[in-house]
Amino acid sequence: MKTLIKNGYIVSMVSDVQKADVLIEDDRIALIGHADESTADKVIDATDKVVMPGLINSHTHVAMSLFRGYSDDEFTLKDWLEKRMWPIEDKFDRDIVYHASLLSCVEMIKSGTTTFNDMYFFEDATAEAVEKIGMRAILSRCIIGEGEQAAERTKEAEELYQSYHNKAEGRIKICVALHAPNTCPPDTIKRGIELADRLGTPIHIHYLETKSEMDYVQETYGTSVTEYLKKCGLFQYHTMLAHGVQINDQDISILKDVSGGVVYNPISNLKLGSGFADVVKLMQHGITVALGTDGQGSTNTLDMFEEMKLAAYLQKGIYHDPTVISSRDVLKMATLEGAKILGMDSELGTLEVGKKADMIIIGLKQPHLNPIHQIEALLAYSVNGADVETSIIDGKVVMENRVITGINEQEIIDTANRLKRSLF
Ligand SMILES: [Zn+2]
Repeated sequence: MKTLIKNGYIVSMVSDVQKADVLIEDDRIALIGHADESTADKVIDATDKVVMPGLINSHTHVAMSLFRGYSDDEFTLKDWLEKRMWPIEDKFDRDIVYHASLLSCVEMIKSGTTTFNDMYFFEDATAEAVEKIGMRAILSRCIIGEGEQAAERTKEAEELYQSYHNKAEGRIKICVALHAPNTCPPDTIKRGIELADRLGTPIHIHYLETKSEMDYVQETYGTSVTEYLKKCGLFQYHTMLAHGVQINDQDISILKDVSGGVVYNPISNLKLGSGFADVVKLMQHGITVALGTDGQGSTNTLDMFEEMKLAAYLQKGIYHDPTVISSRDVLKMATLEGAKILGMDSELGTLEVGKKADMIIIGLKQPHLNPIHQIEALLAYSVNGADVETSIIDGKVVMENRVITGINEQEIIDTANRLKRSLF
């Protein structure tokens, strides 16, 4: 199957914006330049449109879509989890997670995300939603708690890997997730590490999200969070560290040598009153910084364009300096740097010949997108998720002119509302 995207502004993330065609052969980019229409099975006209890599949401919990708007403006993270999220999550089953994940998949495709990195439970149900809708995802059964409970969850994490790793034409990968330093004692962290070592996967963990996490680890183990994780052996593995709000200079001296990096989730961190990560400093030290939304309970939408804007503006404000971070920096966080954190940058994150054909097309003929001075700035600061017209994942057109193929979108929305009424 050959799909030709004609005459678009190509934002490849590795070279300057150029007008060109993109030829896709099966699941990969075969050519960027000029191609003859007669050789293609399908032609998409991208005149006056941007063609760019699909966005990568590097930290989320997509089954949390049902929490959108449920507990806003009430609690900081610990109370929010204990008083609001966990009591409802106890009522979740596989079917609920499937439908909640499906709603998020629709939301992500319609706002430009093609790959996401998720940790939750009943992730087999999330895998089925991913397979149905045609997205790409790194999924993990979150390991939390201690003793028998942690052992059981580690077993489920391994079963998830055995059943779903490399499924859906390779679009689904499974990794190991540990919940957080303050909810995983050393034995639990070692269980997760041992599993990741055996399976050869990266490790995804919440990290230095709040001051209370930092204080708990200091009081319980007499050390900093970063030293604690280092002593447990975590940093010998490719690690995806979500949040990093409380990172200090001593942490940076350790993180510099760690494979993986930090996922910046500015909206979630601000909304829960956790603070903000100083990602300019991390980037200055050569630490990879990707972008995530977190779940809809703390972030309300999965629109990565919204996240990019705030990601940049927040740093400019903190530093009282608009030059510390650029539109290109945040676009990279949402594409190439995301692919790096996921350990998939040889396949994803840029538009280059030979890479996987994951890309989105954005129409520019909208009042809020004109006049056009600089396309990368337009993408980071003016475009919103609803401007994404077409999405191609693994070479397949999963959304064309904002219609997702193979699903009944209204039915998915109605089911989510029905579940909300029965759960809350
Ligand atoms: Zn999270």
